[in-house]
Amino acid sequence: MKVSAVGVTDTGLVRALNEDSFLISGFENGLPYGFCILADGMGGHNAGEVASAMATEIIANELSNSEIGNSEEEIVSTITASLDYANNEIYNKSVSNSANAGMGTTAVVIYLNGKTAYIANIGDSRAYLIEEDGITQLTTDHSIVQKLLESGSITPEEARNHPEKNIITKALGTEPVEDYDIYEFSVQEGDKILLCSDGLSDMIDDSQINDILHQFINPDEAANALVAAAKENGGRDNITVVLISFIKED
Ligand code: CA
Repeated sequence: MKVSAVGVTDTGLVRALNEDSFLISGFENGLPYGFCILADGMGGHNAGEVASAMATEIIANELSNSEIGNSEEEIVSTITASLDYANNEIYNKSVSNSANAGMGTTAVVIYLNGKTAYIANIGDSRAYLIEEDGITQLTTDHSIVQKLLESGSITPEEARNHPEKNIITKALGTEPVEDYDIYEFSVQEGDKILLCSDGLSDMIDDSQINDILHQFINPDEAANALVAAAKENGGRDNITVVLISFIKED
């Protein structure tokens, strides 16, 4: 199995700034060891940019500089500690610097250790698993709309156009202490994992994402085609995708 990880970020067609950020590390020679981070920042002026850039850099530094063993316990505790550290740094900067007041960011992290993938999530950026026969959303959004969906107050159709669609209930940097959803699963040859900001998932639906990822074999072309489709549908927000492909070797 050979792993390819590529990312694309685009300001979109409406926003003046790109407050999304992503980082890919590892996967040298296609080996299944590395991590990817995607963050979608929020806050006035350019504070969202500051928050998302801080998150990707701090989490990447922590993951790169930690001695991480192979056990689930060690890996999960290291990922959690890296998110805690980023949360703390962003929170401290937001309370000590008025230009950055109230800033925060989503974060979705994938850490691959051989065939075992770990995903950590806070906010409404997403991870999807794309298999031969379809697409599955791996993460659950921390959003008002997700809560309304779970309680049965609104339908999935209503969720797509809900006025509070972009209000998240959790973010890195907005509270002194946070917690995260952590998922662990095994990947198979032929699978793809997509990380994306809501600038993608708000503009195109899951079946369209699935169609594009089955249509384009080349990972760079696939990632660019996703961004292009989001822009064709309005590009109302910043669009970021990270695509990890688990390629069968001949
Ligand atoms: Ca966004």
